[in-house]
Amino acid sequence: MTRDAPPDDPLSTAVAALPGVGPTRSKALAEAGIQTAGDLLWHLPFRYEDRRFPTAVKDLRAGEAALLLAEVKAVHVRRARRRGLTITEGLLSDATGSVHALWFNQPYLERSLPPGTHAYFYGAPTLFSTRQGLRLQMDNPEVEKVGPMGSGAVHGSRIVPVHRRLGDLSGRALRTLIHRCLERVRPTEVLPASILQVEGFPDRATAFDQAHFPGPETDVAQLVQRGTPALQRLIFEEFFGYQVALSWNRRSRRRRAGARIEITAQSREAVRRILPFALTAAQRRVLREIAADMASPGPMYRLLQGDVGSGKTIVAFVAMVLAAKGGFQSAFLAPTEILATQQYERLRTLTDPAVGEAVLLTSSVKGRERKVILEALSSGAASFAVGTHSLFQEGVDYARLGLVVVDEQHRFGVGQRALMVAKGDNPNVLVMSATPIPRSLAMTLYGDLDLSVLDELPPGRSPVVTAVRSEDARPRVETFLRGEMDLGRQAFVVFPLVEESEGLDLRAATEAFERLRLGPYRGYPLALLHGRMTGPEKDAVMRGFRAGEIRMLVTTSVVEVGVDMPEATVMIVEHAERFGLAQLHQLRGRVGRGGQKGYCILFPSKGTQVDGLARLSVLERTRDGFLVAEEDLRLRGAGEAGGTRQWGGGSFKIANPLRDFEILERARLWSERLGKGEVLLGTGEGERLTAWVDSLRVREGGYAGIG
Ligand code: ADP
Ligand code: MG
Repeated sequence: MTRDAPPDDPLSTAVAALPGVGPTRSKALAEAGIQTAGDLLWHLPFRYEDRRFPTAVKDLRAGEAALLLAEVKAVHVRRARRRGLTITEGLLSDATGSVHALWFNQPYLERSLPPGTHAYFYGAPTLFSTRQGLRLQMDNPEVEKVGPMGSGAVHGSRIVPVHRRLGDLSGRALRTLIHRCLERVRPTEVLPASILQVEGFPDRATAFDQAHFPGPETDVAQLVQRGTPALQRLIFEEFFGYQVALSWNRRSRRRRAGARIEITAQSREAVRRILPFALTAAQRRVLREIAADMASPGPMYRLLQGDVGSGKTIVAFVAMVLAAKGGFQSAFLAPTEILATQQYERLRTLTDPAVGEAVLLTSSVKGRERKVILEALSSGAASFAVGTHSLFQEGVDYARLGLVVVDEQHRFGVGQRALMVAKGDNPNVLVMSATPIPRSLAMTLYGDLDLSVLDELPPGRSPVVTAVRSEDARPRVETFLRGEMDLGRQAFVVFPLVEESEGLDLRAATEAFERLRLGPYRGYPLALLHGRMTGPEKDAVMRGFRAGEIRMLVTTSVVEVGVDMPEATVMIVEHAERFGLAQLHQLRGRVGRGGQKGYCILFPSKGTQVDGLARLSVLERTRDGFLVAEEDLRLRGAGEAGGTRQWGGGSFKIANPLRDFEILERARLWSERLGKGEVLLGTGEGERLTAWVDSLRVREGGYAGIG
């Protein structure tokens, strides 16, 4: 996980080589993902505390964190009644008054803070009632003795960085460690001086210094907004490195000879034969883009974006038919067995063996059947492979894989996509995503992919009515649901499944299922579907649901709901606040597909806060997936300190593509200029830049990871 450091860069210094890092600590750091100085320095503060100006004792307020510069007047340790607990009491004074301080289990303070010591104390005083009445008291204040120059250099009397915890290191220990690291290890510059100059950025070493330990003149408001030159520079660096790496990936891929799929009159005829309906204008446009790309010499790397229900699947199938007629096999990769099975069945009903033989490969295909399928793939007898991750496992070989389709691409890791692609000789790649992000953002985040957008829904789709409901509405909703089921329609009831508490959630869903079955929906055909069921069990449930024998599907698994059920009209989501807006939008897109009106009813958990409810109400107001996604990203973006989550193919340490969109754009411009040779490079700057970007490409597995 070495970050941003070519091998000879000081940032690749092992943390174990830093003073004060013994074997135990270095092991703990490694477990927290920190192995090098670079890892440590990129562990940037997530907030800052302004401790520049001491507060006078008389101005202390309960609950407001403050820095005191005070003298210890008295100190002593006593044992608390509870066994094993020691309490150190101190009396702290400045010219304006005195205040009590208490420390728990830090008996050594009695010796290190003898009366007469001057020190900084930081903490929030609380009101404490004594026999004499209320008094202010500081519990466990942080202490830093006044140094020789009259200042506390690292922890006190300054703008103090607060870092996210690493292992069991205290905030204070971590701060000390980073401070030491900055003293020993001076990061070398990776950006060309000409960029720094135009953008007004500090050099790299200064940027890290100032990001971790902002100088006293720093504008704190700007710091909070991540707007200081130091932070802006680090954000820029992340984006710029990412963009340049993407463009290099793209360039090196373009140079390869890819599977070239000729489009002939015959293949056009085959497409016409399989189409069950007239394509929308958007589908036709996108297909023209795809066909042209597949027919060109370099391999296609294209992202197909389209709101849920926009009809991405048929587009992929047409591309697969074109590939088959051009003499190539295609693989359609789906995230779950249920989805793979459904897509396979759809493909089978549309195509006949004259167009191409289709096979389904999942982990439950075993024994003789599996052998036959693997044969068909390696001999080239099968043109279409639909399946799960089984498609790219070892031992699965393709005779002439010319097209890879990745459905619901975000469900696959970078490495998995790469493995799939490696099964062919530079195959064309189409990744499909129903998470509509703003086009400009997509272009920057997926900069190494070409973009096709389905911005039109097939005709005859009435919008899904969405409502956030509280518990008192439940009986009415139940009556409504029974009415829908009486009309032969179907419903989903979705429970969230969070990995950490999978067992718990599963139990909650199972219990809820029993309650529903025996309570409001007694006598109705209900079924439970969850991720722990075996393949055949899931299949049986899905078959029953598809056949209409099961009217209500209670499920913990969002992915499995990606199926296409024309008779499903109602989507109930329990604990709705635990889902992302975009995810909920996906869910509601699953109902009302068969021309009937669709309904999505969101039940937030009891006690959901006002802002949580306001967030959900976005879905009541807007039906446009792009707007929902934008709102979702905006809300989440605002709450995120840094870029701790995956964005496109990259993961950023501090940059956040939404909050920092302007810098992202600037980084993209610079990356383009660099590509055109328009960036002035000083002596050695080109080599350093290359080494740095290469190290990024290695670390991220080539970012989008399909190169
Ligand atoms: P998604 O983009 O969410 O994967 P699907 O490909 O599953 O959407 O399509 C959703 C539904 O719309 C499917 O039932 C599909 O058959 C139907 N559909 C797709 N394109 C058209 C079209 N041009 N006309 C009518 N129905 C269509
Ligand atoms: Mg789909």
